[in-house]
Amino acid sequence: MGYLIRDCLRCGTSHVQMQIKGHATIDKLNFEMFMVCNSCGRSSIYQGQPQQNFSDDRNLEDGRSIHNTPVQIYPKTPVLREDIPERTRNLFKQAATCLRYGLSEPAGAMFRKTIDVGTKEFYSNDARLKDKQPANALRSRLKALGDMKILDADIVELADIAALDGNDATHDEDPYTTIEAEALEELTIDLLDRLFVRPATIARVRAKQIASGLRKSDVDTEGGGV
Ligand SMILES: [Zn+2]
Repeated sequence: MGYLIRDCLRCGTSHVQMQIKGHATIDKLNFEMFMVCNSCGRSSIYQGQPQQNFSDDRNLEDGRSIHNTPVQIYPKTPVLREDIPERTRNLFKQAATCLRYGLSEPAGAMFRKTIDVGTKEFYSNDARLKDKQPANALRSRLKALGDMKILDADIVELADIAALDGNDATHDEDPYTTIEAEALEELTIDLLDRLFVRPATIARVRAKQIASGLRKSDVDTEGGGV
């Protein structure tokens, strides 16, 4: 039976022989190989271009190229538009990754942090808030965005629930459930969409209309332009 020599990630044994127990064909050259460690008996999947008579007793790697480390699968997270600042997108990705690993407590806390940092970045990026200082407390900041009619009342109310929900004191004895963390993810996407994506989309369409002569300028439009 074909084998590989690898460091086993399952038991930590270095340079151990692993036997092939099965394979998947990607194309004529590339395969995924289901390998079982001689030391611990557990499996790992390796990708590469092996010798193809898998039942022959030989090193599958002889003269061929096979990845040094096994295939590792990372959960896919929703991809946010680049109109949202990078720091906020990174925080969201960490929160969404925690959620998909079943870690609802860090996911909930990180979604709240995403909202916290996202609203602060909104203050420093949005022309309408040029001379305004964001409130330190997240809930006050959200309320101010509602009072200035930058956010609709319904999203302010939802975000306020999230802000309160993510408060450490509230959650000391009351951990996030998966359902709560999933709801927070949806809310975070909605909030970031309203803060960053919609205004940027409107600005792009408006600029295109002006460039094509369809719209004279943005000065006479409602709200004085973006
Ligand atoms: Zn092993």
